Amino acid sequence: MIDNMRGNILYLVVPCYNEEEIIEKSIDKLKEKMNRLIKEKKISPKSKVMFVNDGSRDNTLSMLHKAAKEDAMISVLGFSTNFGHQSAILAGMMYSKDYADMVVTIDADLQQDIEALDDFIACYYKGSEVVYGVRNDRSADSFFKKSTATMYYKLLHFLGCDIITNHADYRLMSKKALNALSEYKEVNLFMRGLVPTMGFPSDVVYFDVKEREAGSSKYTLKKMMTLAVDGVTSLSIKPLRMIMALGMLACVFALGMLVFIFVDWIHGNTVPGYATTIMAPLIMEGVTLICLGIIGEYIGKIYLESKARPRYIIDTFVWKENEEE
Ligand code: UDP
Ligand code: MG
Repeated sequence: MIDNMRGNILYLVVPCYNEEEIIEKSIDKLKEKMNRLIKEKKISPKSKVMFVNDGSRDNTLSMLHKAAKEDAMISVLGFSTNFGHQSAILAGMMYSKDYADMVVTIDADLQQDIEALDDFIACYYKGSEVVYGVRNDRSADSFFKKSTATMYYKLLHFLGCDIITNHADYRLMSKKALNALSEYKEVNLFMRGLVPTMGFPSDVVYFDVKEREAGSSKYTLKKMMTLAVDGVTSLSIKPLRMIMALGMLACVFALGMLVFIFVDWIHGNTVPGYATTIMAPLIMEGVTLICLGIIGEYIGKIYLESKARPRYIIDTFVWKENEEE
């Protein structure tokens, strides 16, 4: 279905956390790309780049304010503190959805190829409400990140999640999709798992990933682990069912052992079995604690959801009408 009446205002949402080493370069590149798209009449001159400062502790925010002062194309949304990447992109999308017809989220380090934007926009004009950016390969990643990411996507698929392999958060969403997203009130945010469940017509665009040009990754191991656990707990309750299955299996095993010991006893065998006596409870204790941990993780999530605290707090918002209109 081709919808030629689709609006053409594009907003780019760029989350930033301590990005002072690279932000000025990224601003220039994004502005240049946006101006090119406007010139080619692919997007409206009212289009903007909205930077979301996720409580940076360096000079990122002042650099963003300076850029916004110089050019009305730049808009700045500032958090009161660090709420995390997922909250930053959510806030950016929620703040731009009233002005924009389509929103693309992209990392501040521009590791994701901005030339793919043309394809994103083309898919949108063809009728897609969501367009997923999927990386061609992971050669820019370390061996550790590559292998853990591959295993993680496999795990999520095994748990029955409708997630797109190698799609991070480089994604276009239409106004309609954003309005639907605004209905989701969960605190446990895992955007790349949530968006496919909305069921809108979607498409995929492939892009190359580059090395980070300056600064270092802001996704620490701790943040990556949190995102991974959030992903599983927000998408699937299968781990809880697997615990139940494990418990049943253990019971069947115990019953078998009982029969075995009974038969042994009838035959008058004395079993030395010291190692088994020590090992069996130890292993079971370990399994029990892991199971309790998994259950605890879900209870923790229920606790957070029931408090329903805001997912971010806005401290500043800069948005100016474009001059040329
Ligand atoms: N980021 C953020 N809040 C955080 C951590 C990261 O807004 O708490 C932003 C960061 O500034 C960047 C994007 O999320 O724009 C992706 O982070 P990064 O490039 O460091 O991750 P990587 O590419 O190494 O996975
Ligand atoms: Mg990066």
